[in-house]
Amino acid sequence: MKVTDVICHVVQSKVEKPFTSARGWLYTTRASCLVEIRTDEGVTGWGECYGPAMVNKTIIETQYRSRVIGRDPFDVEVIWEDLYNRIKDYGLTGMTICALSGIDIALWDVMGRAVNKPIHKLIGGAHRKELVAYATGLYFIDMNRLVEEAVEEALAYKEQGFRAVKMKIGLGDPKLDIRRIAAVREALGDGVQLAVDANHCFTVPQAIKLGREMEKLDLLWFEEPISPEDHEGYVEVSRALDLAVAGGENDFTRWGFRDVIAKKAMDIVQPDACAAGGISECRKIAALASAHGVECVPHAWGSAIGLAATVQFLAALPDTPPAFRPMPPMLEFEQTPNPLRDHLAKEPIVQVNGIVRVPDGPGLGIEVDLAVLEKYRVA
Ligand SMILES: [Mg+2]
Repeated sequence: MKVTDVICHVVQSKVEKPFTSARGWLYTTRASCLVEIRTDEGVTGWGECYGPAMVNKTIIETQYRSRVIGRDPFDVEVIWEDLYNRIKDYGLTGMTICALSGIDIALWDVMGRAVNKPIHKLIGGAHRKELVAYATGLYFIDMNRLVEEAVEEALAYKEQGFRAVKMKIGLGDPKLDIRRIAAVREALGDGVQLAVDANHCFTVPQAIKLGREMEKLDLLWFEEPISPEDHEGYVEVSRALDLAVAGGENDFTRWGFRDVIAKKAMDIVQPDACAAGGISECRKIAALASAHGVECVPHAWGSAIGLAATVQFLAALPDTPPAFRPMPPMLEFEQTPNPLRDHLAKEPIVQVNGIVRVPDGPGLGIEVDLAVLEKYRVA
């Protein structure tokens, strides 16, 4: 089997009600670079890249595409190393790796379809066929109703059956953060777990001070308390707090995660399949984490394709640690309005009572709806 073409589709949808995290008003549109890989045997695979879509498209078209055409998709890791070495001198991290991730995922999808098996069967098998999903939401929308809107949204997720929720924090006022978290915690009650995500807006002392307050509120984890470059700072925050510290959505490849994991700078690492180097590289990051007693709970933010890749990867992640009644790694199921996530697959991945079934179909386990793709395609 040989790759005959690598095609990038930029899809975009408008966000009707702009929302923000601690980082600013980032989300007025949702866009993604989707990667379609065609082969001489008529098998087509799909992947997705995290980050600015037009840049990913340009990197793939100018740096990678010609090196993938003519290759056997089953040489996925040979191709990975070749592309990485092609851009190594100026692209060790960041968008070059996001672009590479989309190609890697599409190659895994091709392989699965070629042998009529889901990707999780090709990467070791499913440790579980059902994933516990947590709802990511509770961004900041109405600055006059920050506490009320968070409680309302959290209750809506509880109503939909979610057993865990992740909320945004980092409002420049730790007292307001605590008030908001406490209100959500109380509204959710005992049956629903709660994590918080600061999108790296604090200094080390700010994070430790707020973390100590949050420890009274029974939280799952404190995500991205500080800036991703500051690995030593993560060590300080992690050691100072009993609360689990998470991060890694802005880290890339096994080399980027190596020191974080070896130092146990975080209790939970969160590589993103569409950013950190694809399924091939996330498996290596997960193996590093496992060897150091660090949990791996992937980050996910994208269309139905990125979500499906995350689901396949998660199915094949062992419980850390294994137990009679383990606490398996959860699926990040982002819930802000996004038609690219909800409608791009003919049979979308959905949650029922907080559980997402791992699809059994070949490759990613979803079929891309080409009419929907065309509707949102801008380049
Ligand atoms: Mg996050």
